[in-house]
Amino acid sequence: MGNRFPGQACVFCPNPNVGVGEHVWPSWFIGEFHGQGPFTTSRAGVPYTKRDQVTPVTANALLGAHVPACQDCNAVLNTTVEKPAKPVVRRLLEHGDSGDELILSADECVALARWLLKVGLLSAHPAADHDHPGLQSDQDLPRLPVVRPEWLDWMRAGGEPPAGFSVFVTRRNLRGEDAAPAVKQHIVLPQLIVDGEDRNFTSQSIGFAGVNATIVWHPGWPIAHAQVGTRRAARLWPDPYEVDFGTLPKVHPRELAFRDGAAVVVDSADELAQFAQHPLSVDYDPSVAFFGVVLPSEE
Ligand SMILES: [Zn+2]
Repeated sequence: MGNRFPGQACVFCPNPNVGVGEHVWPSWFIGEFHGQGPFTTSRAGVPYTKRDQVTPVTANALLGAHVPACQDCNAVLNTTVEKPAKPVVRRLLEHGDSGDELILSADECVALARWLLKVGLLSAHPAADHDHPGLQSDQDLPRLPVVRPEWLDWMRAGGEPPAGFSVFVTRRNLRGEDAAPAVKQHIVLPQLIVDGEDRNFTSQSIGFAGVNATIVWHPGWPIAHAQVGTRRAARLWPDPYEVDFGTLPKVHPRELAFRDGAAVVVDSADELAQFAQHPLSVDYDPSVAFFGVVLPSEE
């Protein structure tokens, strides 16, 4: 086996990469989808398109991707992330379109959340190398501008993910996309600067086989998620609880999406705590509240 990342360090530790590194989507997972293509890739519920901005990028196999990793970290992640998630993900895949009950215990929700964080963060990692050449060469592919050490450290340590992450899941239609939703809501994530330090608020969405997951990094500022409140989505992390995934309704990924907002600059954690008494939600744009002006909207 050749070295896919010669001269590059493991993304989890200072050791050099070995072989193909870490599979972002594990090979057991990709194998589940053999012959079920074509697959599309979406960002925030919007299919990732070719240069014409209309034609979705499709592939006949589920798109694989790798990040540089050493043998040690590869083995550790298999134990801490992949093995606990595998039976849960398999149950979701087997459940498919069914409206039958599918109870996920709080522990199973955590196992799934950890795995979704791994896939979401690594697929947008600046060092990720995608199997699909068009995707890999495209400058528009979502890439994390920075990767904070605490985003990945817990995967290797085997501890809990930071509470600054939230992981939300909805069900989606397995047989192609529905018509666009009548109401499209957004939760605006500010670029939060606290005492000169960018907190790097960010969100990533990933979809597979009837599941749409959104991971959000928003330390210190809670989110009141409208779809969780109306039982149209489940929050897997933090504060996990038992979820009946099977009876969640199928909702269009664009019904509620996260969007990057303007900068909100505060001087201290105390000042942030005052703002954070008002959670981030679809009814609230923090930059408007902060500046008292309405900024131009993207749509
Ligand atoms: Zn390593």
